[in-house]
Amino acid sequence: MTLAPYRNKRDFSKTPEPPGRSRNKAGRRFVIQKHQARRLHYDLRLELGGVYKSWAITRGPSLVPGDKRLAVRVEDHPLDYGRFEGTIPRGQYGAGTVIVWDRGTWSSTSDAARSLAKGHLEFSLKGRKLGGRWHLVRMNVGTGAKRDNWLLIKADDGKARSRKDRDILVERPESVKSGLLIDEVKPSRGASTASGRKRNMRTKTARKEPGESARGRKRMPVSRGRKRATPGRKRTSR
Ligand code: MN
Repeated sequence: MTLAPYRNKRDFSKTPEPPGRSRNKAGRRFVIQKHQARRLHYDLRLELGGVYKSWAITRGPSLVPGDKRLAVRVEDHPLDYGRFEGTIPRGQYGAGTVIVWDRGTWSSTSDAARSLAKGHLEFSLKGRKLGGRWHLVRMNVGTGAKRDNWLLIKADDGKARSRKDRDILVERPESVKSGLLIDEVKPSRGASTASGRKRNMRTKTARKEPGESARGRKRMPVSRGRKRATPGRKRTSR
């Protein structure tokens, strides 16, 4: 499960498309997207080998060390996906609403690719909501189960909480990208995202926002008076 099929089809000396560089430095990116599909879940994505290794956590992550949260391994996602917030149209794969629930960097003292292959990765998160050490442990090895089931477990450290403490999922339900709750994301039309449309509306009143071009992606040329939003516009994060 890598981007090899994507790369094999392309000659990057001839196409301007991105080859999807590998980044093996420490401090790789992670993102957790809250996804209200048919069933609510949280998608944990860890950058490794130029892609996001991904797990769907059905009940969401827990900061309580005794809690074992089912994490179903899903297909690798491109790194661009980490910015995605909006709605996936009805009838499409994963139809529903997505917000960027947490993001930051992750690290591991082990060879992460080998650890994943072995079925146990110990890693640390530095996010806006989640931190400290965690374990991902593969279940049902060799049982022929259809799903690739793992468990996400918080290690006991300074970032851990007890059952008496507030549940981080309840305490911090909002997007770290837009500040929106998942119910506040309006259905998007076409390829536009909720955050994109919101930014576009703001742009109408204040066309220039200091610092925006430095941190955001390069703007695509938008003709004056155009009503449709361009996709994936980044809003200044709080
Ligand atoms: Mn999902």
